Amino acid sequence: MHAQLEDAFEILERITDGFFAVDKCWNFTYINKEAARLLFRSQADLIGKNVWTEFPKAVDLKFHEQYHKAINEQVPVTFDAYFSPLSTWFDVRAYPSPNGLTVYFRDVTKAKRESVQKEQHYKSLFQQNPDAVFSFDLKGNYLAVNPAMERLLGYSEEEYLQKTFEPMVSEDDKDRTLHHYNIAVGGTTQRYQNKALHKDGSIIHVDVTNMPLIVNNEVIGVYGIAKDITSKKKSEDALKAKTYQLESFIENNGDAILIFGKQGKVIQVNQAFENTFGWFKEEIIDLPLYKLPIIPSEVIDEVKKFEAMVKKGHYVIRSETTRLHKDGSTINVLLSISPIKDAIGHNDGWSVILKDITEWKKSQEMMQNTEKLSIAGQLAAGIAHEIRNPITAIKGFIQLMNSDIDGYNEYFDIIISEIKRIELILSELLILAKPQVKKLERKDINVLMDQVITLLDSQAILNNVEIITEFDTEDTYIQCDENQLKQVFINYIKNAIEAMPKGGKLLIQIKQRDEDKLNICFKDEGVGMTIETLSKLGQPFYTTKENGTGLGFMISKKIIENHLGEVHIMSEPNQGTTIDVILPLE
Ligand code: ADP
Ligand code: MG
Repeated sequence: MHAQLEDAFEILERITDGFFAVDKCWNFTYINKEAARLLFRSQADLIGKNVWTEFPKAVDLKFHEQYHKAINEQVPVTFDAYFSPLSTWFDVRAYPSPNGLTVYFRDVTKAKRESVQKEQHYKSLFQQNPDAVFSFDLKGNYLAVNPAMERLLGYSEEEYLQKTFEPMVSEDDKDRTLHHYNIAVGGTTQRYQNKALHKDGSIIHVDVTNMPLIVNNEVIGVYGIAKDITSKKKSEDALKAKTYQLESFIENNGDAILIFGKQGKVIQVNQAFENTFGWFKEEIIDLPLYKLPIIPSEVIDEVKKFEAMVKKGHYVIRSETTRLHKDGSTINVLLSISPIKDAIGHNDGWSVILKDITEWKKSQEMMQNTEKLSIAGQLAAGIAHEIRNPITAIKGFIQLMNSDIDGYNEYFDIIISEIKRIELILSELLILAKPQVKKLERKDINVLMDQVITLLDSQAILNNVEIITEFDTEDTYIQCDENQLKQVFINYIKNAIEAMPKGGKLLIQIKQRDEDKLNICFKDEGVGMTIETLSKLGQPFYTTKENGTGLGFMISKKIIENHLGEVHIMSEPNQGTTIDVILPLE
C-alpha cells in the first residue's frame, strides 16, 4: 500500500469516533476499528459489502433517509438516530464525497438516556409537584401551569393560558405583587405572601416565590411557586386574635390580675392592679411571691398554704382575705388563683385575681345595720309597752308596801323579778345596737332562743300570735356568734308574726338532726309566699311590706352560711311557711 495512504489509514484508526466510507453503490470501502466495535462486526467481514444488505433494518430508519439526502443534495448531514437492532442511539455526521459518503458516528445512548430521564424528571417535578408551579412571560401572561396550580385557584390550564396573573390577585395586594414580579423580571428571586382570588371568589392565602426564567443569559419570563397557607394563616390569625383577646381581658379587667411565671416571679400585672394597690407595674414585675409589698404579715401562712396548693395543680376560688395598699391601708379582697399549664401539661406559673371588696363589705355592713336599726325601731313600740307593764306593777306594789307592811317580802320578790325582766328585755334590745365584730363562742341555742323569744313575746301577744316551743334537751351547743344568730332568729320570728295579721300559732322546734347537726325550725300558719316572692327572696330590698326593709332574709342567709349552715324554706300561699335552719353542732 502507498505509504501516504497508510498514514491516512493510521489517522483514521486513531479517530475515536466510528468511521466508515461507502462507494456510490453503498458498499463499504473502509471501516475503522471503533466502527466495527460499535456495530459488532469485524472490519474484514464488512469491506466490500453493501450497507443496506448488511444492516437491513436501517433502511426503515433515519439513516437511510439522511444518507440519501447527503448524497442527493451533496450536503453534510448530522442527526441523532436510534438503531433498534443494537438498542443504541447514534450521533451521526455524514459527508458526501465524490466517490460516495464518509460517515462518523458515536454511541450517545448513555447521554441520550440521561437527558430523557432528566427531561422526565423535570416534567414530573412540574406535574406532580404538590405546590402550584407556573411560568409567565415578561408581560405576566401564563405560559405554563401544573395541576396543583389548576387546583389552587380552580381555573383550568386552558383558562390560565389566556390570562395574566393580575386579576387573580386580591385588590389590596396588587401593587405589592406587581412590585415583586418586576424585581423578579429584573433577575432577583422574590418570596412574599399575598391573597389570591379563587375562581369561586374566595380568598386563598399563598406564599409565593418568583424566580427569573433565564434562557441563554436572558430573562424571558418568571417562574412561580405558590404554597397554599390559608389554613396556617387562619390558625395563626385565630391564635393572634385569641392572644389579643386574652391580653385585653387581662389588661382591661376590673379586678387586679397578677401572672407569675414558672420561676415564681411576677411576669405580668394589669392596670386594675395599679389602681387597686397603688403600686406601678415596674415596681412589681420580676418580684418573687414573698417580696410582694401587698402581703400583710398576718396572712403569710395562708399565702404559703395557697402556694403549696397551686404547685400541686389545685385552684383557689374566691377566698376572702386582705392585702395592703401602698399607703398602708388594708384592702379586703376575694382571691382566686389558677395554675397555668403549658401545652404538654407542665406547670407554667399561675395567675392571681384579686377582687377588691372593701366597698362591698362596707355596704354589706351598712345593710346589716339598717336591718337592725329598722327592727329596733319596729320593736320599740312593743318594748315600751312591755316595760310599762312591769313598771306599772312596781309602782302599784310600792304603793301597797306603804299601806300593808305585813305582805312586805312577797311584794319585794315580785318587784325584783319584774325589774329583772326589764333588764333582760333591755339587754336583748341592745344586741341590735352592738357593733359587728364576729366572735365565736360555744353557746346553747336553747338559751339563745329563749332570750330572743322574751324580746319578741310582747310583739307576738300584741298580734295574737302564740309562740309554741319544742326544744330538744339533748346537746344543743353550737360554736357561734351569739348576737348574729339572735339577729337571724329575731328576723324569722318577726317575719312569722307579720305573716299572721289575724293571729295564729308559731311553732319553734330545736332538734338534733343526723349525728352532728342541729335543726332549728320556725313553722307559722301565715299568709305564705307566692312563687314570685320565693324566687326573689334573698335579693336585697325585696319586701312585700309597707314598712319592710327587704334585708332580713339576705342577711340571715349570709350569717347562717358564715356559720357553715344552710337555710331551707317551704311555703305556700295561705298554707303558712316553714323555715329550717341547719347548723353544725359543736
Ligand atoms: P322584710 O321582712 O323587711 O320584708 P325579709 O327579707 O325579712 O324582709 O323578707 C322578705 C319578704 O319575704 C317579706 O316581705 C315577705 O313577703 C316574705 N316573707 C318572709 N318571711 C315570711 C313568712 N314567714 N311568711 C310569709 N312571707 C314571708
Ligand atoms: Mg323581715
